Amino acid sequence: MKGSIVAKFGGSSLADGQQFQKVKKIILEKEERRVIVPSAPGKRHNKDHKVTDLLYMCHQLASHLLSFDEVFQILEERYLEIARDLNLKVPISEALKNIKENISKGATRDYCASRGEYLNGLILADYLNAKFMDASEIIRFHPNGQFLPKETEELVKKRMQNAGRVVVPGFYGADEEGNIKTFSRGGSDVTGSILAQGIEASLYENWTDVSGFLMADPKIVKNPRTIKEITYKELRELSYMGAPVLHEEAIFPVRGLGIPIQIRNTNAPEEEGTLIVEDLHREPSPYIITGLAGKKDFTVITVEKTQMNGEKGFLRKLVSVFEANEVTIEHTPSSIDSVSVIVSEKEMNGKLSKIMEEIRIYLNPDQVSAQGKLALLAVVGRGMIATKGVSARVFTALYQRGINIRMISQGASELNILIGLENDDFESAIEAIYEAFTEKGEETHENL
Ligand code: ASP
Repeated sequence: MKGSIVAKFGGSSLADGQQFQKVKKIILEKEERRVIVPSAPGKRHNKDHKVTDLLYMCHQLASHLLSFDEVFQILEERYLEIARDLNLKVPISEALKNIKENISKGATRDYCASRGEYLNGLILADYLNAKFMDASEIIRFHPNGQFLPKETEELVKKRMQNAGRVVVPGFYGADEEGNIKTFSRGGSDVTGSILAQGIEASLYENWTDVSGFLMADPKIVKNPRTIKEITYKELRELSYMGAPVLHEEAIFPVRGLGIPIQIRNTNAPEEEGTLIVEDLHREPSPYIITGLAGKKDFTVITVEKTQMNGEKGFLRKLVSVFEANEVTIEHTPSSIDSVSVIVSEKEMNGKLSKIMEEIRIYLNPDQVSAQGKLALLAVVGRGMIATKGVSARVFTALYQRGINIRMISQGASELNILIGLENDDFESAIEAIYEAFTEKGEETHENL
C-alpha cells in the first residue's frame, strides 16, 4: 500500500454525528486516505465526558461489584445518538449489550477501555462503507502488556495488502490469545504511526481540533503562529517539555522510514497544519526559532567540591544517589568545581533532604545546596546552528524584561538553548523571547 495515507482522527473529531460528517468529507476527498484510525468519542464541550473515561469508570465500579448501569447508559446514549444521526445499519445496540455483559462478567480494564475505539470503528466503517479490521487481529502485544513491533509489522503487512479502504480502531491490540491490551492514554496516535510504518505509507495524517503545533503556549502568548514544519528532533525537544498535541511515542514507528506526520484540524481542513519531517536539509523556520516550550517546578541541587574534575567516578557516584532513590534526573549542568542536578519537584516527591544527606556522606563535598521553584524553558530551532546572535537576542530580550537567568545550557546539536529561571518569571520570559523573534511578522533569515 505504498503511496497510501494513514489518517487518524482524534476523539473530538468524532465526538458526535456532525463531526463524523466532517470526517467522512475529509476522507472521501483523497482516495489515498486508505487506512483510517478512529479514537473513541471525545468531549463535545467543556463539561462533557470522554467515552474512554466513562469506560474506565464502568470497569472500576464493576470491579468493586457496584452497579455501573448509570455510567454505561451515558455512553450507550452517545453511540446510539451518533448511529441515529448518521442513519446507520450497523447493529450498535447489540455490540453495546455484549460489551455491557462482558464488563459485568469481570472483563479486564484494558478490554473495557478499548471498547470506545472498537465501537467508533464499527460506526465509521459502516458510515464510510469501508472494511472494519479489528486492531486485535493486527496489533500484537506480549501478555505482559508490552507492544511487539516485529510481530505487528508482519501481521500488518500480511493482512493489509490490497485491503481497500480499512478502518482500524486505535489505542489497542491483543496478545496471541486474543486478550485485549491498550497503549497508554492518547495511544490511538501510536496505532496510526504503527500502521503507517507497516504499510509504508507516504504520509501519516493526524486529525485533531487544532491546526498543528503553535510556536508557544496560547495561554501565555496571544495568537502565537503555527509551526508549519518541524523536524522529529525539534519536536522531541519541545514535546518533552509538554506539548500534548501528539502522543510522545507516535513519532518513533514512522521516523525510521522518514514518513512525515501532518497534524491537521478536522474543523478547519483548509489549513495546512504542521508537517513533522526528518531532519535532512530542511529549510529552517523563517523566524529562526521553531518553538518555545517549558515547564515550572524544578529543584536544583548544587554540589561543590574543589578539584572534583580530577576525582574519578565523582559524577557516577552523584548520579547513583538519585538512581538509588528512584529519582529521574532532568539535566546536569556543570562547571569546573561544581555540578548541579535538576529534578522536577514531582519526581523528587519529598526525598530532597534524604538525597542531600546521602550526597554529603557518599561524596564528601565542600558544599551541597538546593533551590526550588525553578522553571525550565527550551528555545528550539534547527536554524540556530547557522545563525549568529541567537543567544544574544534571547538573553537581551530577557534582560530587557529584568528577568534573572539561573542556568543556561545548549544542547550539543545546537538545536536548543535551555534556560533555567524563577517560576514567577516563566510566562514573561516566553513572551519576551517570542516577541524578540517574531516581532511585527518580520521573518528573520539573516546569516543563513
Ligand atoms: N481514547 C483513548 C484515550 O482517551 C485513546 C486515544 O484517544 O487516543 O486516551
